[in-house]
Amino acid sequence: MKPAPFDYVRATDRDEVLEHLHEAGDQARILAGGQSLVPMLNMRLAKPALLIDVMHVEALARIEATADGIRVGAGVRQAQLLDWATRDPRLPLLARALPWVGHAQTRSRGTVVGSIAHADPSAEQPLCLLTLGGSLQLRRRRRARSVAAADFFVGMMATARGDTELIESVTFPAAQPGCGYAFNEIGRRHGDFAIVACAAVATASGARLGIGGVADIPTVRELPLPDAPDFDDALNQYAWDLDARDDLHATARYRRELVRRLGRQTIEEAMQCRN
Ligand SMILES: Cc1cc2nc3c(=O)[nH]c(=O)nc-3n(C[C@H](O)[C@H](O)[C@H](O)COP(=O)(O)OP(=O)(O)OC[C@H]3O[C@@H](n4cnc5c(N)ncnc54)[C@H](O)[C@@H]3O)c2cc1C
Repeated sequence: MKPAPFDYVRATDRDEVLEHLHEAGDQARILAGGQSLVPMLNMRLAKPALLIDVMHVEALARIEATADGIRVGAGVRQAQLLDWATRDPRLPLLARALPWVGHAQTRSRGTVVGSIAHADPSAEQPLCLLTLGGSLQLRRRRRARSVAAADFFVGMMATARGDTELIESVTFPAAQPGCGYAFNEIGRRHGDFAIVACAAVATASGARLGIGGVADIPTVRELPLPDAPDFDDALNQYAWDLDARDDLHATARYRRELVRRLGRQTIEEAMQCRN
């Protein structure tokens, strides 16, 4: 199929993006790497009147260390962040998770922010942002705000972003001393979206476990460590609370079992990596 007709603007500065968003409102869509949006256009699941291409705005194409962590601009491609994370010890979870995102070809086009904006419940980058307690920097014409990842994902591919808002960047908190980080997922083939994805942060006294691919949104929960007597019950309760459903890829029961097994394994790996 071919997309419905649309206008296209190639913005070269941020204010131009905001002006177009302000004028077109919900008739406009930001075009980043196009790896999710273009198939949606072709299938006519999205029919925007205007596409605003942000990939030529230099100010959005930066990765920067800030007081809060590592800030990743809207134009940063997944391959760029993977390259950065493999060299920067402050981003151990992303160094482990990003190789699971699609393929080298899709990572060289797709952006980090595009994936988070798209909010697929099986996607790795929203899960990492949530598990680390990260935030998003949103901006419309006369107002900027920061939103915690915990408040951003509100339903199946639905977010707290307003129609006229650009996600300017996202901030991943830097690794903390005494913490370990691990990531695992099960999919049908490498590069497919996860059936279940697990991201874990372990400290000396407990763990935070993020789960993707089960509920409508990525979720995170504080758990005791696996050697605690109440660990199995707490993880089992988490698996049930995610309210898994059967679909073409897996049954709800299989997903719950993966949460229990892969969840434990991921926390144990995070404990072994504590610095
Ligand atoms: C073969 C294949 C395999 C894939 N496998 C995986 C996988 O395993 N895991 C995974 O997570 N993803 C996977 N993807 C999706 C891929 O990661 C996409 O790159 C990502 O979902 C979207 O990023 P993008 O930059 O391409 O965004 P686009 O497709 O350009 O945009 C996606 C959506 O986000 C909006 N948007 C983008 N940027 C902004 C912004 N700054 N502000 C506001 N809204 C914005 C767009 O308007 C659009 O609605 C796969 C894709 C393909 C084609």
